Amino acid sequence: MDAAQLTATVDKLMPQITEDLKRLAAIPSIAFPGYPEEKIAECHDLLVELLRDTGVQDLHDLNLPDTSPIITGHIPPPSPDAPTVLLYGHYDVQPPGDEKAWVSPPFTPTEYTDPEHGLAVRGRGIADDKSNLAVHLGALRAFGGRPPVGIRLVLEGQEEYGSILDDYPPQNPEAFACDAMVIADMGNIRPGTPTLTTALRGDTEVEVEVRTLREARHSGLYGGAAPDALLTLIAALATLHDDKGDVAVPGLRREPWAGTAYTDDEFRTLATVEPDVPLLGTGGLGERLWSGPAITVVGLDAPAVDTAALAVVPYARALINLRIHPQQDPKEAQRALINHLEGLKPFGVTLKVTPQDAGPGFAAATGGPAYQAASKALKAAWGSDPVQAASGGAIPLVNGLAKAVPNAEILLFGAEDAACRLHGPNERVLLSELRNSVVAEAAFFQAYADSYMADRAKL
Ligand SMILES: [Zn+2]
Repeated sequence: MDAAQLTATVDKLMPQITEDLKRLAAIPSIAFPGYPEEKIAECHDLLVELLRDTGVQDLHDLNLPDTSPIITGHIPPPSPDAPTVLLYGHYDVQPPGDEKAWVSPPFTPTEYTDPEHGLAVRGRGIADDKSNLAVHLGALRAFGGRPPVGIRLVLEGQEEYGSILDDYPPQNPEAFACDAMVIADMGNIRPGTPTLTTALRGDTEVEVEVRTLREARHSGLYGGAAPDALLTLIAALATLHDDKGDVAVPGLRREPWAGTAYTDDEFRTLATVEPDVPLLGTGGLGERLWSGPAITVVGLDAPAVDTAALAVVPYARALINLRIHPQQDPKEAQRALINHLEGLKPFGVTLKVTPQDAGPGFAAATGGPAYQAASKALKAAWGSDPVQAASGGAIPLVNGLAKAVPNAEILLFGAEDAACRLHGPNERVLLSELRNSVVAEAAFFQAYADSYMADRAKL
């Protein structure tokens, strides 16, 4: 099918695709402790039913310890020389958070009209990641379940809470064998701007502790000479950035970002920056957000103001989150931060620095046939050339898959968009983005099959 035929087919299918999405999003499939496991099972069963309905064969559960079942399935390639595409998504969602902040109940998918972008559906998980499950279903439906490529499905049920799947693929690479993967847990940098995400920042944490006294002492009697642990810690934390707000720790990789980025105004709105507060750092936003380091103090143990005694604080502790260049080794970056902190000795006090988890980033290869086919497909769906963006959030599984199938091209796109409020209240998906994502994925199957088989024929 050519792109125009696919678009017409998808338009006819949109009521069904929207219905698939609403049914999936009506189930509170939250894999966090304390939430009913039956809801995960209910969503799993519905998804299996929908997949079977689209023509996916040998649907199985991959059961690994301490994680919700991973749905796998397969559609054989229509001919021996057609490529196979792995489709990834997850059927669990974040908890709804404060339900009072929602305009409509989080698990009652509610259609409304966004003043700027038209029809939308609101609900927890409706964008992240159930919209992209609906995209996979829709793209398969567009071919009546017989796409021009082989399909391998990997649909996870515990992405948001975290699961063992992240380490699993390299141990069992045959289960993930494919020529290209669509990691559909993503979306566009802004509604209407087709976007291929080509990099993900890595991340790591470091804990830093200061003990100066065995216990608290009267600040009038001892303050002035007895060292204050909190002030010592603050002096250390203050060295992490220069006065413009750029990271000042040596050894952290930073490069210009070659793709697209947000405008300052877009970013201020998305990040909800208060009007009189300037943004941090210098250089392009892409470089500050995606191809350079970021350091955030995400936790601090200190006496609360309301109950504070007038005493010299004996002990303080902070958790520092470090986001790194997609290609920097996270252990190397963590070492750089630790070296910096250990070398400080504010007021002559030695800090205790403890490394925490470290996860690598990801940089996609952009020169291959799948990437070209995806660019063409996104252009057919949205009517303009796709831009390249990155994301600060790591998807640990992507590295596991990349290790298991090192020659497969990895593509990240989907129906979310930067303003969809994923993980926040009033999460929503735009029906225009959903439709275009289905067209894009279906057109990708076709373009990739065509170019792959043409290349094979030349051999
Ligand atoms: Zn997600």
